[in-house]
Amino acid sequence: MMKAFGIPNWVLATFILVFLLGLFLGARLPLFRRPTGDGKDARRSLHYIRGMYAMLTGDVENSIRHLTKVVEVSTEPVEVYLALGNLYRQRGQIDRAIRVHQSLLTRASLSEEERVLALNALGMDFKTGGLMDRAVKTFRDALALHPRDPDALAFLVKLSEDLGEWGEAYEYAVRLQKVRHQKDPKTLSFLLAQKAQRLAESGLHLRAAWQLHRALRLYPENTTATIFLARLYLKVNKADRALKTVERALRETPHKSFMLLSLLREIYAQRQDLGGYLDTLHRLGHEQGQKRALLQELQEFLDLKRREPAAAVTRHLVRHFGRSRLVQKTLWDLSRRGAVDPSLVKEWADALAGSEQMMDAYVCISCGYKTLEILHRCPNCKEWNSFVDGEG
Ligand SMILES: [Zn+2]
Repeated sequence: MMKAFGIPNWVLATFILVFLLGLFLGARLPLFRRPTGDGKDARRSLHYIRGMYAMLTGDVENSIRHLTKVVEVSTEPVEVYLALGNLYRQRGQIDRAIRVHQSLLTRASLSEEERVLALNALGMDFKTGGLMDRAVKTFRDALALHPRDPDALAFLVKLSEDLGEWGEAYEYAVRLQKVRHQKDPKTLSFLLAQKAQRLAESGLHLRAAWQLHRALRLYPENTTATIFLARLYLKVNKADRALKTVERALRETPHKSFMLLSLLREIYAQRQDLGGYLDTLHRLGHEQGQKRALLQELQEFLDLKRREPAAAVTRHLVRHFGRSRLVQKTLWDLSRRGAVDPSLVKEWADALAGSEQMMDAYVCISCGYKTLEILHRCPNCKEWNSFVDGEG
C-alpha cells in the first residue's frame, strides 16, 4: 500500500476532508473575516480537528468529547456550538441540545446567517422533543430573518403536514418550490386535496370544491381529489356531476379504478341507474382487466340472483385471475354456499392445479411497499397516490 512519510493514505484523505470542511464552514459562516483571533486559534487545536473528524465518521461520543474541550478553551467558534447541540440531539439529550442552541442565540455578535442556522437547529431540537408548537414558532422566526431560507421552509412543510395543517403546508410548499426553482404540481395538488377535506369537514363545501378543482387542474391524476369532489357532489344531490368527475378519473387512470368502485356504486344508486352501474363494472373488468371490478360485478349479479351472468363472470375470473388469493377465497366461499355451479368449481380447481397462489396486495409503484388496505399516501416513501392493485 502507498504511504507518504509513513502515514496511511486514508488518514491523509481524512485530514484533507476535515480541512475542506473547515473551509466550507468558514465560507458559510463569515467568521474568518472577523478581527478576533480567538476562534482561529480554537480551530487550529487538535481537539477541533479530532472532534470534527469524529463527527464526520458518525462517532458521536468522541465528537462530543473533543468539541467540549474546544469550547472550554474558546467560546468563539459558532459551528462548534451548532455541532455540539446537534450531537446532543442525536444522542437523545434534547434538553442539553436546546440549552446549547439557545445560548448561541443570546449572542449579540451572531451574523444573520448564523442566527438562521441556530434557529433551524433549535427548531429541530423542539421537533425531536415533541414540542411541535415551539418548533413551528422557531422555524417561523428563522423565516422572519430569511424569508427564502429553504431549510426553514422544508421543515415547516413537514411539520405542518404532521400537524394536519394542510393549508399552511401548501403555502410553505409553494414558497419552497419557488426558492428551489422546482416544479412539483403533484405534491401541491395533494396538499390542496387534504386542505379541501378539512374545509369540507367544517361544512365549508363550496370552498372545499373550489380547492379540489384547483387540485385537479394542477394534477388531473389525483384520485384522492376526485373522490373528495365526487362525494361533495353526492352530498348536494348532484350525482351527474359526481359521475362526470369519476368518469374523467377512470379515463385518466384506469389502473386506479379499484379506489373508485364503492363510490361508483353510491353514484349510480343516487341516479337509480343499475344498468349503467353494471355496464361500467363490465367495462372496467372485461375491457380493462380490473380484477376488483370483476369481483364486484360478480357480487352484484349474485345479489340480483342472476345466475347466468354470475357464472360468466366467474368463468372469466377463473380463467384470468385464478391464481389470485382474493379470487380463490371468494370462489371458495361461494361454492361452499352453493352459489356457483359445481362444474365451475371443478374447472377452477383444474386450472389451479400446480400453480402458485398470488398475494392481492396494493403495491406502491414508487418504493414497492405492500399493504392490504387502500392508502392515499405511502407510509414508507411518503409518495402520494402511488398504490396500484398488484400481485406478487
Ligand atoms: Zn412507497
